[in-house]
Amino acid sequence: MSEILTEVLQANEAYAADFGNKKDLVLPPKRGFAIVTCMDARLDPAKYAGLAEGDAHVIRNAGGRASDDAIRSLIISYKLLGTKEFFIIHHTECGMEFFTDAVISDLLSNSLETAVLDQNGFRDVGLGPGSEEGRYINFLTIADRLKSVVDDVKRVRAHPLIPRSIPIYGYIYDVKSGRLIEVKEATEAGKRIAGTSESAAIPAAAGVTSAVVN
Ligand SMILES: [Zn+2]
Repeated sequence: MSEILTEVLQANEAYAADFGNKKDLVLPPKRGFAIVTCMDARLDPAKYAGLAEGDAHVIRNAGGRASDDAIRSLIISYKLLGTKEFFIIHHTECGMEFFTDAVISDLLSNSLETAVLDQNGFRDVGLGPGSEEGRYINFLTIADRLKSVVDDVKRVRAHPLIPRSIPIYGYIYDVKSGRLIEVKEATEAGKRIAGTSESAAIPAAAGVTSAVVN
């Protein structure tokens, strides 16, 4: 058994031994919100947002991007499990800022081994063979940290399956301080829309800004 596997199973043993009232938790998140955030190991949403088991949905991927799959989860989160507010939280020093689709595709075409990061960026040191499959993936890298939060909030806001009534907050987590910093343009773009409470999505051609709740 690998050392990591042993450690994880031992930790789980201790966790389960003290599981207590958590056996009574119900499926819908008690505090009624969802967070989309990066998988970065330095981020612990339960800690930075004060979550206990059963409180909220946390959807994680590389970058905390509003990918099709993140949106799939958000739809399930509100439609079946009743969440009413969403957060999109990216962070400083995100690894997604350090490469482009072309860079990772070139690395993968060379080998499947872990690349090296130095002052000149990522460099492949594997023996290969690699694969060209990476060229068919949109890795959703981040060229502009603030813009990526704004773009993702706007994408969720405009999605035809996300209700207007759900406010979407855009934040950057600072890995040097642990603080959440608001991206005002994102939160502004994610404001709940006045009028119908739940159902209607935003008509594609509508003047959305005039209907934003102040
Ligand atoms: Zn990240």
